[in-house]
Amino acid sequence: MPFSSLGLSDPIVKAVAEQGYQTPTPIQQQAIPVILAGKNLIAAAQTGTGKTASFVLPILENLLDAPAVRAKRIRALILTPTRELAVQVEANIALYGKHLHLTSLAMYGGVDDAPQKQRLIEGVDILVATPGRLLDMYTQRAIHFDELEILVLDEADRMLDMGFINDINKIVERLPLKRQNLVFSATLSDQVRFLARTAIEDAVEIAIAADEQTTPQIKQWLVTVDKENKSALLSYLITENQWQQALIFIETKRGAAKLVSQLEKRGNKAEALHSGRSQAVRTQLLEDFKAGKLNFMVATGIAARGIDIDALTRVINYDLPDQADDYVHRIGRTGRAGASGEAISFVSRDDFRNLCAIENRLGEFIPRKEIAGFAAKLAVPASDVGHAPKKPQNARRIRSKNGTAGRRS
Ligand code: AMP
Repeated sequence: MPFSSLGLSDPIVKAVAEQGYQTPTPIQQQAIPVILAGKNLIAAAQTGTGKTASFVLPILENLLDAPAVRAKRIRALILTPTRELAVQVEANIALYGKHLHLTSLAMYGGVDDAPQKQRLIEGVDILVATPGRLLDMYTQRAIHFDELEILVLDEADRMLDMGFINDINKIVERLPLKRQNLVFSATLSDQVRFLARTAIEDAVEIAIAADEQTTPQIKQWLVTVDKENKSALLSYLITENQWQQALIFIETKRGAAKLVSQLEKRGNKAEALHSGRSQAVRTQLLEDFKAGKLNFMVATGIAARGIDIDALTRVINYDLPDQADDYVHRIGRTGRAGASGEAISFVSRDDFRNLCAIENRLGEFIPRKEIAGFAAKLAVPASDVGHAPKKPQNARRIRSKNGTAGRRS
């Protein structure tokens, strides 16, 4: 099915073709006609499925012919959990809307608000915003919602995890009642459904089942290793496998700084990405990383969403996240849109609880590799949180690259 058969105008189809997209992904095939018809939608779709284009393309189409926006008014609002995702979504709008005359802005906190206010005065059709900064701007009367036509809650589950529920409710209460509502979420948990119900009455619900084509091809494996040996293991794997790039997730800012200096000492160019760094620095780091100028990015969880790097082949969980869903989002940074990727976790005894939660969430055990010289003195048992994973444990021996073999314990 070509993009042109979905009812999108030529300038949009042209922009999509210029991106090299040949066919719409399943979420795009299902969501685009519903959104073009002006209906409300709740969609379960993970990052990597092409979900951003699935709402951006029909929003561009729906706004195409209407009159230009007035000062301080917006026509579509996309709420995102993080600044990085806001920037990413807005970049996609600019890309897909390059042959149109619609305007867009990413608005987020942590930076001077004066340029954002100026842009609003000049007029913005599509605003991508994080909830806190948006409310702040509203309170300052820098923005009015009376001409808003479309609301999107992007990564709704993540916004709830991050405690934005009150901000979202305050924003939704201030929007015109007659509007189109679109909710996208990696998971449709009870909380997401509840949130969606407060914004939407009669939504069409779409769930994109994981299938071979849409699920990113991510090879997952883990190494059990004592905590104090994680840094040495990382440097060993980088050298041994000649890794050129990896996004490395770590628990704390302090841990990130320490790991960066350890990597640098061993000759690997690394930087830390976390909320303690200014937005300008974070943006620059992401650009350098995307351009391949920076080899290893050590990021705390907050940066997990919103990083969209097509060529990223490797994600490393130096520490496992507390939330099983975060594991899924982290590994979703790689293997985007069908490309192949690798997600490696370093699991020490104190990561065991998190491992249990993750393997139960996945419904399967993550294959283990043993790396010679790094065997954990404090063994990490097989997950057991009271209910067996859906797929039986795979007891075959797994041979690591350097020839050592490990049995799933
Ligand atoms: P998303 O799920 O929105 O984060 O998109 C994941 C990646 O898929 C992005 O890098 C997009 O550029 C890419 N993408 C989106 N739609 C398509 C498509 N129809 N064909 C190929 N790649 C796509």
